[in-house]
Amino acid sequence: MHAPNRVAWIAVLAALAAPCAASPAQEPESSSYIASRPDFVALQDGIRAARRLRARLFPNGIDETDIALYDSKDVYLYSRDKDLPLAKKGSWSGYVVYQASHGAKVSEREMARCGATPDFVFAALGSAAVSPFFSCSPWNIQAALQRKKRASIYDTRDSYLGTVIHEFAHAYHRQEVDRIPVLPRIDAKVRLLESRHPSRRIVEEAYAIWCELRASQELFPAHFRRLYVFHHPGMDDPHNLGAKVAMEILNEDAVAPQKP
Ligand SMILES: [Zn+2]
Repeated sequence: MHAPNRVAWIAVLAALAAPCAASPAQEPESSSYIASRPDFVALQDGIRAARRLRARLFPNGIDETDIALYDSKDVYLYSRDKDLPLAKKGSWSGYVVYQASHGAKVSEREMARCGATPDFVFAALGSAAVSPFFSCSPWNIQAALQRKKRASIYDTRDSYLGTVIHEFAHAYHRQEVDRIPVLPRIDAKVRLLESRHPSRRIVEEAYAIWCELRASQELFPAHFRRLYVFHHPGMDDPHNLGAKVAMEILNEDAVAPQKP
């Protein structure tokens, strides 16, 4: 181990001072963003949180779900399958981490989200995409881009971890749709809604948000409070309708906090 030199200490102090005071010049550039160690750790913390809560949220387990992290150059796939036809970059907590270049230009929109997997991710994974998986951009660039939006609540590290659990829920719903205890309750409430969207889309979203709420209530209370007041009653889109249903169920189970 080397003693930290002066330059390193200046870097440490600058890093400590920087997070809340990002000027536009310091913001990471989405088209050239490369995932950093804190980005990988954030994703891993999200996976760890999902595994910690699996008895309550995903009782049949989430080992079958792979997770893809992409930046401006590469896709990194976390999988428990040890023999996928991709380059191995390392391992973490029972997962092999694979790496594949994608050669695409990643849009700002794609860098600002989890879910809605871009085509270049499917292309880069090719035949290695054998298990259900979801994809995420790195949390640092995602948070920076969310901060540019008006009224986004997805601009913190905890909101990113909550999003990882939300995406696990979508994957779990697709695999276990007939074996999720809360789904009949969600289904009954969705039938009462008037919406131009198919009810199965709203049911899936309600389940994903219910998982995100339950996880955040326990692990990410600040994100939970923001999530709880966020949805817009009356807006006919699956997220808002799903959030309305999820919060009704949470309230029925008498685990909701007082609204701030
Ligand atoms: Zn969703």
